[in-house]
Order: sequence, then structure tokens, then C-alpha cells
Amino acid sequence: MDHRLSPELEELRRTVEEFAHEVVAPKIGDYYERHEFPYEIVREMGKMGLFGLPFPEEYGGMGGDYLALGVALEELARVDSSVAITLEAGVSLGAMPIHLFGTEEQKRAWLPRLCTGEILGAFGLTEPGGGSDAGATRTTARLDPETDEWVINGTKCFITNSGTDITGLVTVTAVTGRKPDGGPRISAIIVPSGTPGFTVAAPYSKVGWNASDTRELSFDDVRVPAANLLGEEGRGYAQFLRILDEGRIAIAALATGLAQGCVDESLKYAKERHAFGRPIGANQAIQFKIADMEMKAHTARLAWRDAASRLLAGEPFKKEAALAKLYSSTIAVDNARDATQIHGGYGFMNEYPVARMWRDSKILEIGEGTSEVQRMLIARELGLAG
Ligand SMILES: Cc1cc2nc3c(=O)[nH]c(=O)nc-3n(C[C@H](O)[C@H](O)[C@H](O)COP(=O)(O)OP(=O)(O)OC[C@H]3O[C@@H](n4cnc5c(N)ncnc54)[C@H](O)[C@@H]3O)c2cc1C
Repeated sequence: MDHRLSPELEELRRTVEEFAHEVVAPKIGDYYERHEFPYEIVREMGKMGLFGLPFPEEYGGMGGDYLALGVALEELARVDSSVAITLEAGVSLGAMPIHLFGTEEQKRAWLPRLCTGEILGAFGLTEPGGGSDAGATRTTARLDPETDEWVINGTKCFITNSGTDITGLVTVTAVTGRKPDGGPRISAIIVPSGTPGFTVAAPYSKVGWNASDTRELSFDDVRVPAANLLGEEGRGYAQFLRILDEGRIAIAALATGLAQGCVDESLKYAKERHAFGRPIGANQAIQFKIADMEMKAHTARLAWRDAASRLLAGEPFKKEAALAKLYSSTIAVDNARDATQIHGGYGFMNEYPVARMWRDSKILEIGEGTSEVQRMLIARELGLAG
């Protein structure tokens, strides 16, 4: 199995690398400090076709796949994770559920604008009462037979891309009935932004990802047409498990990018910064740290590309996606800590990219399934029940 990039993917990688360095890097620090969503940069990403990367051309996409998406995410996150997560959530959580489970009409209605980045989509699964136990959803949706509408009530929390000026829809999971054993029937329903009763709270004050949009959402007798059901009624749980399996590959690519960005910044700094009359990089203690950081980023890259190639080949990839997500997020935190250490006091100053990377790394062990959840999935795939 060859995990090197094809000439087309290498060209995409170079294009996104150039964009990240020339457009994102000079501006993102200020957006981050102001906790402001970078509309201007996101618009440029849309023009480049990044939001349409893994979608068919007939819906306005670029006709690529998850490998292409991972390559783009890795290069963006090498420079900044807020823009990378905006892309990841827009594609994997916003548009992908519609592509995978939508009717032809839903695809035609939403995908072209999602693919160009004209609008962003979000996916509302997590609730204040719990995220890891996603089957414990409390939000409800009742079909009103008189109006043929879903009536949605509940609250979702920590939802990425859900409250920007260009957010077009949020797909929410809700209990739509009970199984014979009393368990919930969970379904996914598309709620367009601006629907009466659908309230978006102010952005959270976060430790990191400060130029990305994260909100709490409330649904108070929100009415949407019955046709906004995404996929089959009662199949929402299975659908979002699939969405999360794929999303883990994307997050793993993003985490790999952050880990590699830490190597890039540390290499530069180790050559520039002098202590005791020579560059700090002349010390074996610093060299070994950077060598270990490079080893980890490289291994994480192999892991996410392996999971992506299994997905593309139509093979089982659940375990490999969980392994890639667990490993890459763990080493992203390691590399961010080591890169900050190499930068000394400057590593604690927000003007240095490694400080941003340090703040942005922790969420990678939490979002789209915590490290504990990844271990549970891996253990289950190994045949350990429970
Ligand atoms: C910035 C940000 C963006 C996000 N974006 C989105 C989004 O777009 N859409 C969305 O739906 N959600 C989103 N999330 C939510 C995220 O996916 C959840 O926070 C995550 O899944 C964990 O859920 P929780 O926070 O409820 O923690 P909990 O589930 O309450 O877990 C708390 C702790 O207990 C551990 N734990 C739980 N159960 C077990 C167990 N059985 N065994 C061992 N340990 C266990 C967990 O690993 C964790 O360490 C986002 C979160 C953040 C912070």
C-alpha cells in the first residue's frame, strides 16, 4: 500500500500550503485575539473549492474524496486550526450527512451552496446533558399530522459553525418515537437557520479555536416540513455513527497538521534562538525533542491516510479511524507542549503561533469522540464486549 500522494493530490497540497502561508498566516492571529470569525478567509477557501472537495461535480463539488479533504485539512492546520475546523465541520458534519443520506431534492437544495462555501452547515448532536452517550438524546421531534411538520423541542450545545452570518442549516438529532423495547428512535432533521423558535446563543468563550464559531442552540416548538427528515425515520443513530467514523479521519488529518506545524515552528526557532553562545538547536536535548515530534507527526499521517484509503476502497475502517484519531490527537497535544517548551517564554506569548497551537491542541482529545470513546471503539473492534 502506497501512502505517498498522487501528482494531483500533491498539487492540491501545495496550493493549500501556499494559501495557508500567504493568506491565513498573516491575518489569523488578529482574528483569534478578537475571537472573531474570519469571513474573509472562509470566503477565499470557498472560492478555492475547499468546501466542495469530496463531493460530486454535479452538486457543485470538486469530485475529490476524503483523502483530498484530509490533505487540505492537514495543510491548513499546520498554520491554523480555527480555519481548519471550520472546513472540517462544514464538510464532514454540515454537508456530508446531506450527501450520504439526503434525497435528491435535499441534495439539490443544499449541496451547491454548501460546496462553494456560500453557506455553512452544522451538525447538532451534543446536548448539555451529554455528548459521549449520544444515544441519550433528549431533544424531541413530533410529527404534526395536520400540518405535516416536525415540531422540535430541546437544546444542543457546543455546535460548530452554527451561528455565523453564513450558516444556512443545522442538522439536529431528535427522538421521534420509541422502539418496542422502549428505547428511543432517533432521527436527523434539517433545520434552516432563521426558522422561528430556533435560537442561537452568543459564541462561547473558549480556551482555543477562537476564530471558529461554537454555540448553544435552543429549539422551542420549531416547525419544519416533514420533508426535512434526513434519511429514514429512526435511523438517525446509525447515520451519525457513520458520520462520526468518517469525521474522525478528518480530525486525525487536522491533528496531524497541528503536530507538523509544531515541528515547522520549532525547527525555525531552534536555528534562530541563541543561548550560551550558540543556537539552541545545537543542543542534543532540543534536537531529540524535535526528532521525536517529527516521528509522531509522520506516524499520525500514515495512520489517517491508512484509514482514508480503507474508506475509499469500501473496506471496514472504523477501528483504523479511531486509532488515527486517538493517536494523532494525543501526539498533537505532545507536540504542542514540546514546541511551547522549545520557544521558552515566547511560547507563552499569543503572538507566537505555537501558543495558539498549544491552546488549540487540547480540544482534539475531546471533540468528535473523546480519547476514552476512541479506546472504547477500538476495544469493541478487538472483540472486547462491554
Ligand atoms: C469546541 C467544540 C466544538 C464542538 N463541535 C461540535 C459539533 O459541531 N457538533 C456536536 O454535536 N458536538 C460538538 N462538540 C461536542 C463534543 O463532541 C463533545 O464535547 C464530546 O463528544 C464529549 O462530550 P461531553 O462534552 O458531553 O463529555 P461527556 O460525554 O460528559 O464526558 C465527560 C468525560 O467522561 C468520559 N467518559 C464518558 N463516558 C465514558 C465511559 N463510558 N468510559 C470512560 N470515560 C467516559 C469522557 O471521555 C470525558 O472525558 C464540540 C465540542 C467543543 C468543545
